[in-house]
Amino acid sequence: MAEFDVDLFVIGGGSGGVRAARIAANYGAKVMVAEEYRMGGTCVIRGCVPKKLFVIGSHVHQEIEDAVGFGWSIGQVSFDWATLVANKDKEIARLEGAYTSNVEKSGARIVKTRAVLEDAHTVRLATGEKVTAKYILIATGGAPNHGPAVPGIEHVISSNEAFHLKQLPKRIVIQGGGYIALEFAGIFAGFGSDVTVVYRGDNILRGFDEDVCKHVRSEMEKRGITIITGCTVAKVDKHGKDYTTHLSNGSSIASDQVMFAIGRHPNVRGLGLEAAGVAINPANGGIQVDGWSKTSVDNIYAVGDVTHRTNLTPVAIREGHAFADTVFGKRPVQVDHATIPTAVFSQPEVGTVGLTEEEARAQYSHVDIYKTDFRPIKATMSGRDTRVLMKLVVDGASDRVLGCHIVGDAAAEITQAVAIAVKMKATKADFDATVALHPTASEELVTMRTPTARHVRQAAE
Ligand code: FAD
Ligand code: NDP
Repeated sequence: MAEFDVDLFVIGGGSGGVRAARIAANYGAKVMVAEEYRMGGTCVIRGCVPKKLFVIGSHVHQEIEDAVGFGWSIGQVSFDWATLVANKDKEIARLEGAYTSNVEKSGARIVKTRAVLEDAHTVRLATGEKVTAKYILIATGGAPNHGPAVPGIEHVISSNEAFHLKQLPKRIVIQGGGYIALEFAGIFAGFGSDVTVVYRGDNILRGFDEDVCKHVRSEMEKRGITIITGCTVAKVDKHGKDYTTHLSNGSSIASDQVMFAIGRHPNVRGLGLEAAGVAINPANGGIQVDGWSKTSVDNIYAVGDVTHRTNLTPVAIREGHAFADTVFGKRPVQVDHATIPTAVFSQPEVGTVGLTEEEARAQYSHVDIYKTDFRPIKATMSGRDTRVLMKLVVDGASDRVLGCHIVGDAAAEITQAVAIAVKMKATKADFDATVALHPTASEELVTMRTPTARHVRQAAE
């Protein structure tokens, strides 16, 4: 009789868990996956995918406005939120089915229930059943922070609820200045809501290149979004269907929805980590792992958002794949977390890879900046007041391109391609040697010849 019921028990059927389960099963392992909600996890069910569908839908409004300058006259248009939500739900259900069948086709077995650790080799299902496993992978993801318990917090929604609102809010207040707050600000504004973003710091998108932060803010404001900085939500009152959001600066805003997008925390509560001896990283509250995604217990691994490293879907997938290759494929693989491209699907979009100017200047003694800010060709006829930002951060000593930052249409698509060059350590001379593709916005990346700024740190005497 086998020593364990399964070779691998995966807790969580999201991006990281699904990839690990499929690859391990392909290597011949006997695999069981527990999912307490819906297969596909955050990205598919209430993250990247429905968010991108909403972004695409909300952008149509701008397309219609821009069409006029090109000779189109589009009569009365109308938008129906209920149709959008229903069609999105249909697509998400299709994807959930595809994730389920792909896992099953690989030979792994799915159990639709919550699972927690009983000890280092035993998982307990909500049904009471216990399953023993040679290896356990924790891939339970994360959940929205509710933030400080301000009075009226029970009236506040997170991104989870934003995907299922019965009606499009006419006015919405969104607290937060990161990915989710700005993406939803663009979504609601595009569909016609009056949007106010409340952010506690000096400027939104802290951690991104400062030129990007300034540019995005100015472009969002041009699109009618109000951005209030240096302040927080202190209290939310409900009167009938309406809310009054009281801010720390003493002002208040009336709306019919209030949303917080103030970060996410790893799903570690009630998982039985102590019983199994799995340590938490005190620095970030995620499960502590080494470069192989191994926890403090030899046969237990953790991947994705539950480790709170880089909380992005492609990273969770890569970590899950690397775990399966290493443990079941006899192909040791460590994930390289350096130079990961990322996009914020705000409107306009942000695409970024590599170092910001601020990071580069802290790490390198000679940094050259190539920056351009221009009116895109479409705006010349649409009349829209908008500008695109393109910026390269270059190590002046080696000529290597350290970072690329773009704000404008298709920034994410352009950045994915540029990321290959940056990851390959391409130099500015390599960029210059590439012939421009005309007429595009991204041709600026290979035609900027003169640094717009040069920062040389003198060696200490
Ligand atoms: P998840 O996908 O969260 O999967 C974890 C799964 O575990 C869940 O299905 C959960 O139900 C299940 N689970 C938890 N506990 C248990 C338990 N005890 N037993 C059984 N099952 C359990 N990333 C991008 O790269 N691009 C984007 O555009 C993007 N947009 C996003 C938009 C939003 C609104 C949000 C919230 C996130 C977005 N992300 C995006 C981040 C991305 O969704 C996550 O990084 C990714 O889903 C992490 O994958 P994971 O496998 O670690 O966890
Ligand atoms: P972010 O970390 O991106 O942003 C959180 C925002 O909330 C920041 O502006 C932060 O301010 C602010 N904040 C944090 N705590 C408080 C508080 N107590 N009171 C008021 N404001 C607060 O988190 P999100 O929730 O937007 O998204 C979570 C993660 O999901 C992202 O970091 C990303 O990894 C992933 N994601 C990725 C997407 C993509 O790839 N396009 C899209 C959506 C999510 P401060 O900066 O001052 O700390």
